[in-house]
Amino acid sequence: MLTHTLGYPRMGSNRELKKKLESYWRGESGRDDLSLTARKLRVQHWEDQKKAGVDLLPVGDFSYYDHMLDNAFRFGVIPERYGVHNGKASIDDYFRMARGEAGENGVAAMEMTKWFDTNYHYIVPEFSRAQEFVLADDSLLQQVDEAVLLGHRVKAVLPGPLTFLLLGKCADQEFDRLDLLERLLPVYVELIEKLAAKCEWIQFDEPVLALDLDENVRKLFGPVYRTFKDAAAGCKIMVASYFGGLGSNLETAASLPVDALHVDLVRGAQDLEPLLAKLGGNLSLSLGVVDGRNIWRADLDKAVAAVNSALTVLGEDRVLVAPSCSLLHVPFDLELEAKLDAEIKSWMAFARQKCAEIRTVADAAAGKDVEEVLTENRSILEARKSSPRVNNPKVAERLGALKAEDYRRKSVYEQRAEIQRGLGFPVLPTTTIGSFPQTPEVRSTRSGFKNGRIERADYESFMRNYIEDCIRKQEEIGLDVLVHGEPERNDMVEYFGENFDGYCFTSNGWVQSYGSRCVKPPVIFGDVSRPGPITVDWINYARSLSDREVKGMLTGPVTILCWSFVRNDQPRSETCRQIALAVRDEVADLEKSGVKVIQIDEPALREGLPLRKAEQAEYLKWAEECFRLSSSCVGDATQIHTHMCYCEFDEIMNSIAALDADVISIEASRSRMELLGSFRQFSYPNEVGPGVYDIHSPAIPAADDMAGLLEKALEVIPAERLWVNPDCGLKTRKWDEVVPALKNMVQAAESVRRKIQ
Ligand code: GLN
Ligand code: ZN
Repeated sequence: MLTHTLGYPRMGSNRELKKKLESYWRGESGRDDLSLTARKLRVQHWEDQKKAGVDLLPVGDFSYYDHMLDNAFRFGVIPERYGVHNGKASIDDYFRMARGEAGENGVAAMEMTKWFDTNYHYIVPEFSRAQEFVLADDSLLQQVDEAVLLGHRVKAVLPGPLTFLLLGKCADQEFDRLDLLERLLPVYVELIEKLAAKCEWIQFDEPVLALDLDENVRKLFGPVYRTFKDAAAGCKIMVASYFGGLGSNLETAASLPVDALHVDLVRGAQDLEPLLAKLGGNLSLSLGVVDGRNIWRADLDKAVAAVNSALTVLGEDRVLVAPSCSLLHVPFDLELEAKLDAEIKSWMAFARQKCAEIRTVADAAAGKDVEEVLTENRSILEARKSSPRVNNPKVAERLGALKAEDYRRKSVYEQRAEIQRGLGFPVLPTTTIGSFPQTPEVRSTRSGFKNGRIERADYESFMRNYIEDCIRKQEEIGLDVLVHGEPERNDMVEYFGENFDGYCFTSNGWVQSYGSRCVKPPVIFGDVSRPGPITVDWINYARSLSDREVKGMLTGPVTILCWSFVRNDQPRSETCRQIALAVRDEVADLEKSGVKVIQIDEPALREGLPLRKAEQAEYLKWAEECFRLSSSCVGDATQIHTHMCYCEFDEIMNSIAALDADVISIEASRSRMELLGSFRQFSYPNEVGPGVYDIHSPAIPAADDMAGLLEKALEVIPAERLWVNPDCGLKTRKWDEVVPALKNMVQAAESVRRKIQ
């Protein structure tokens, strides 16, 4: 019985990759330096996994930016605007695709979107109708050589062709991307033949198997993988599904003509029985029994039971044990957490610990004596369940007392809008999403304060200066609704979590969000509540500096939930309602202190959407309720904003409207306002600011360009309900990009105002 992982965190125990990437981008370190770091990390990560008892090691899970971009790059899917011919692209072209490029010969980045329902973002491959494919990049082959040379048992890992095409987009006109299969497959085959000569296994990731697929898509799997199997000669092929059960794709998956099928038995436990009944005669089953999406210690008895039931039907040779999905989505190593409360820490497992867990599960199922580990596991799980730190009766009491009106604003939007005209904003008001550049000084001051190097008074005066600087700059730029700039926040969720009860924090629990960006999700281990005001003083200090309105800036309950590691001992909806009450307390305090505009960001609303249609309505219902619970305690004169990004909004338009925020700012510029299509079909009832400045790119957009986008927006959104803003917060940008870009944005608003008035 083999153990394996589908992928491992890329950044390194100390986020070495992030640091090296960023220094490379700043021109401070060279290409060799970067590739040396990358290589060291790969070597280290294989070593770690092997030590923990993983038999088959993944190769190809490493990436400089993103695995879907890697696949596009590998197969020569490079949009024309990057000016690369015959697939002769360099690593710098690769980074231009990922990040865009500023300056005269600047070029826009490729689109980025959420990887299924995770907080990881992938680069969306762009296919043209006449797309040609070539095997343009052999880094996967090189990495396989690297691993083989080290004496490892290698499983090459790459996205499967169906996931690759389905998760891409059409570059110019719409067409059926699956029509490209015929041209794509021979290039995959070429690669498979080369890989087969070097390694034992190839894993094709087809997480689309966890989505609702049409019959015409399902029926492509068999022939595609038959072709691959034929090309692989003696090398074994695994198809990996994850992030959910197989649902109506179960028969397709169970009859794949390959060597192994990996399934997610954490989210799709119900699949095991039917799979065992229907699994094709030669197919092995890889059981994803350890949660690759969360940080809790596994219930080993339960995992062993699942493996045992597979063993009785399939026998040892046809069972593999693995985490549910790539470990990319959990932090690196729990042992690095020196400060975590010991009791809570004992309930957790990170990537390294999860590798050990799968080893234990496999050993237990194989009849080896691991009783000591299993007994310890049992007693820890028991202790967690009964710990008084988990339960706060006051929270339950408050939730029980909620009434229908706690979920509604006092009046409908039209009436509120009338009253809010008193705020005196011009038509096409300009604003930003909240954060301003987080300079190295901001970061070091914040971390210095946190670890006691900097006194509170010095910290506060630094932050106040930064806020003052932000306010002055915004006034000079000419923005209508100002923000304080969020310098006190390391992360929009962590910051609130730190100020809530029921949360704890890791010091090194980083998870990749996109490119070099990592987040350190806080951990909800118990009932959530807010002990006292969080943002009120900062916002009021900012307000004291200007006659213009300054927005209060909060993170919404659904986003706090989605970007935290959530306790797995009660429904997510229940935890979300607790957070909503905590945010509501902050909203009430902001209003009481005189704040007139309050933004409650919900960038993660879409990403929490279950992958299967059948489960979506229920989620949307409680997500809407939680947002409204957090926001509707205010009077009609208080303007509630929300913000969303990285979404395909079409399917959740009704829910976005049901949040009943007075104003929503929403990402749009990266896809050149494709978003507006949704507004054409569904006329959004309240005010909306489709982003006109792509903040993911260092490029400074021209005023004319942004004016053009605004005019496009005016075709579907009436002027009195249109706002002007960037796509998202500006924390990752530099001041010398932000100031001119925002000046151009204000100029764009002014020129369009002149035209329409
Ligand atoms: N207010 C947050 C910011 O500006 C919003 C970030 C986000 O949407 N991800 O940074
Ligand atoms: Zn955003």
